[in-house]
Amino acid sequence: MAQDTPKDLVVERPQGLYCPPGDFYIDPWQPVERAVITHAHADHARRGHGHYLASAEGEGVLRARMGADIDLQALPWGQVVEHHGVRISLHPAGHVLGSAQIRLEHQGQVWVVSGDYWASGHVDEANPTCTPFEPVRCHCFITESTFGLPIYRWQPQAALFAGINAWWAENAAAGRASVLMGYAFGKAQRLLAGVDASIGPIVVHGAVKPLNAAYRAAGVALPPTHHVTALPKEALRRALVVAPPSVAGSSWLRRFGEASDAFASGWMALRGARRRRGVDRGFVLSDHADWPGLQRCIAATGAQRVIVTHGYEAVMVRWLLEQGYEAGAFRTEYGDEAIETEAAGQQEGLSAEE
Ligand SMILES: [Zn+2]
Ligand SMILES: [Zn+2]
Repeated sequence: MAQDTPKDLVVERPQGLYCPPGDFYIDPWQPVERAVITHAHADHARRGHGHYLASAEGEGVLRARMGADIDLQALPWGQVVEHHGVRISLHPAGHVLGSAQIRLEHQGQVWVVSGDYWASGHVDEANPTCTPFEPVRCHCFITESTFGLPIYRWQPQAALFAGINAWWAENAAAGRASVLMGYAFGKAQRLLAGVDASIGPIVVHGAVKPLNAAYRAAGVALPPTHHVTALPKEALRRALVVAPPSVAGSSWLRRFGEASDAFASGWMALRGARRRRGVDRGFVLSDHADWPGLQRCIAATGAQRVIVTHGYEAVMVRWLLEQGYEAGAFRTEYGDEAIETEAAGQQEGLSAEE
C-alpha cells in the first residue's frame, strides 16, 4: 500500500481514488458527488455520481453508456479547470476513444493518474482508433499495470493484422465465415480499423453498432460494416463477423453455418487461454500497455514516485524499486480485460439475438 503523506494529491478512500485538496474522486467505484472519469469502460465509469468531468473526445461514448442526461463537463485535451485550487487537465491515454490521463497540479506538485493506456515496445506505434498516449511530466505517476509482467510483449500491429487477414482470407476462400470475438467497446473498433476490408464484407453484432457510431461521429475511420440481415447468405460465407464474446455458443452464431471462430485479447498471449475459450484461433491484441510499453511510458513522465494499480502490482512495484523509484500500490476495484469483457458481456447478452 502506498504511503499517505499530507501533501499527496491522490489517496485511497473506500469510494475510490480521492484528491483531498480538490475534494473529488477519480474513477470512483461507489457513487460520489464529484467524479473525474478517465474513460467509459464499465469498471472506471459508473452510474450514480452527482457530477462528471471527462474528455470531450469521450463525451459521445460516455453519454451512450451512462445516459444522455448525466451532469457532464466535457473538457478538450490540455484545457485547465480549477477546483478548490487544484488545476485539473486531461491528456490522451491511447486506450479507447476518449481515454484520458488526469493531470493534477496543486502548490507546485504535479500528479498524473493514467487510467488505462496503450503503448508497446514498438516506439513508433499508436492505437489508431483514438488520440495516442502522450507522456505528461509529473512528480508522481499513478500507472495501470494490467499486463505488467515481462512475458507480455505485443508484436508489431502490422504483423498481428497480417495474421488476422490471412485467417480471414483462408476462410473466405473455403466458403466459411470468420467470427472474430472481442470486447464491443475499444477492441471491436481496433479490429475493424486494422483489417483489410477488401477480403470480403464485414458484419458487426448489434452490441458493436452503437459504439461504432460513436467512433465514426468522433472522426475515427472504420470500414463499411453491415447488419447480418442485410447480406445474402452467399456473402455471409466470405464475411468477417465482429462480435462480443457473449455470442459464443448462442443461436445468433448459427446463421453463419460452418464458421471459424477466433478471440482477440491480450490474454491470448497466455498458453492455454485460447484452449479454455474453445476457439479455433487466438489473436494477441490488447488495449493495455505491454511490459516494455509500461516501462517506456513511466520513464517518459520523469516521475520520481510511481503508484501502481490494476494487476501484477507486486512485480511492477519491485521492478520500480530496483530502478530507484519511490514506488507503492493502490488497491482499486478496476478490472482487467477479462473482467471488462465479462461485465460487458452481461450487458451485451441483452442484445445477443440482434
Ligand atoms: Zn479500460
Ligand atoms: Zn482499467
